[in-house]
Amino acid sequence: MDQQKNWAGNLIYQAKHWYEPESVEQVQAIVQHASHVRVVGSRHSFNDIADSNDTIISLAKLNQILTLDKDKRTVTIEGGVRYGELSSFLQEHGFALPNLASLPHISVVGACATATHGSGDRNPCLSSSVRAMKIVTANGEEVQFSREKQGEEWNGAAVSLGALGVVTEMTLDVIPSFEVSQYVYEHLPFQQVEQHLDDIFSSAYSVSLFTDWKQDGFNKVWLKQLDAEFTPDQARPDIYGARPALANLHPLPGLEAIHCTEQMGVPGPWFDRLPHFRLDFTPSSGSELQSEYLVPRQYALEALKAVRNMRETLAPLLHANEIRSIAKDTLWLSPCYQQDAIGIHLTWKDNWEAVQQVLPQLEAALEPFQARPHWGKVFMMPKERVQSFYEKLPEFRQLLEKYDPEGKFRNKFINTYIFG
Ligand SMILES: Cc1cc2nc3c(=O)[nH]c(=O)nc-3n(C[C@H](O)[C@H](O)[C@H](O)COP(=O)(O)OP(=O)(O)OC[C@H]3O[C@@H](n4cnc5c(N)ncnc54)[C@H](O)[C@@H]3O)c2cc1C
Repeated sequence: MDQQKNWAGNLIYQAKHWYEPESVEQVQAIVQHASHVRVVGSRHSFNDIADSNDTIISLAKLNQILTLDKDKRTVTIEGGVRYGELSSFLQEHGFALPNLASLPHISVVGACATATHGSGDRNPCLSSSVRAMKIVTANGEEVQFSREKQGEEWNGAAVSLGALGVVTEMTLDVIPSFEVSQYVYEHLPFQQVEQHLDDIFSSAYSVSLFTDWKQDGFNKVWLKQLDAEFTPDQARPDIYGARPALANLHPLPGLEAIHCTEQMGVPGPWFDRLPHFRLDFTPSSGSELQSEYLVPRQYALEALKAVRNMRETLAPLLHANEIRSIAKDTLWLSPCYQQDAIGIHLTWKDNWEAVQQVLPQLEAALEPFQARPHWGKVFMMPKERVQSFYEKLPEFRQLLEKYDPEGKFRNKFINTYIFG
């Protein structure tokens, strides 16, 4: 078998057997016969969460959009569908998802398995839109999970880290399609963030701040405005001292904006504005690593100050630091469980030797602020610390034991951070 790597190329999967089934029956047969199984989505995670030392299943060939129920406002997809294709389909039929991550190339099921998020004070993580799933569990049976039927157990299943089984089908809530305009402002002084953090994050439907920490402030403010709530004549001449950009910009300094979604206040459909990157351009791969820490909203400013204090250490290693806001949810393994959060995301240069020296320092600096790592990105926090953030961890373990008593879907990552 050829070496299989993740999107960033920093991980070689260890599985001895790699399958791309073309039907649910084939998935069931593989699961029944394997000793240990994991599923990969679009392989955008930066750590070994999806890895297996035995069998990996990719649902890349189970990538059909199955039904759109216009009355119930739901869409049902197969387990291998990516946000890009789903978004185009929904738009054609007049529907939308409330939010998206920074790029549309990620698989829907893989993103929801790790509580992937976009930005917006009113926008919870993407898993919050999931309404039902069909999951091939450890004995090979396909089990139907739904928000209506499962009740509290659903809150455990919706962010499963891939440990409950193979999600072969997913049903998501949809909303009517909407238009968004994107405005980018440059050079936001840190002092303004100190004084106006909440105003800045509530100033648009989705807000991102970007810095490379080569200066004491944020290089860019990205505002994604709902056209229904906002008209171009309301566009601000400045945001707390940050000036409007004169052309489309890439989030990372010095890179061409051709890969990016349209800015400069040009209205467009939700799926072509909410992600930073366009589906028809594959962002470069293999030259970055990512980490992210989700901090309860009340500690946002203090946590940002702690990161700023490290800026001389961080700047040489960083492509960019992006700050986003995420609304709370009810999902047991979501880092935003019952609390609004600020995401402190770091796109590192591809230099693991150096990044692994700095990560413990950064995690120590963020420790007073209960910073919980994104499940799909690189972190070095001890497992005891990670576990301490999840009050529903005992219930999550019980859920896994109920459907997978032998631990067929556990790998090193799950054994460490969930059962370790
Ligand atoms: C360029 C880039 C941009 C990113 N932007 C964002 C962002 O804006 N916001 C954010 O929060 N994160 C972001 N991420 C992180 C990314 O969203 C998560 O790592 C996500 O989990 C990746 O999904 P995937 O489909 O690639 O799944 P993988 O990385 O392949 O797997 C992730 C998890 O999903 C499970 N899984 C996948 N498919 C199935 C299935 N069918 N059944 C059961 N389990 C399954 C796997 O077992 C694993 O546990 C980004 C990553 C990259 C590389």
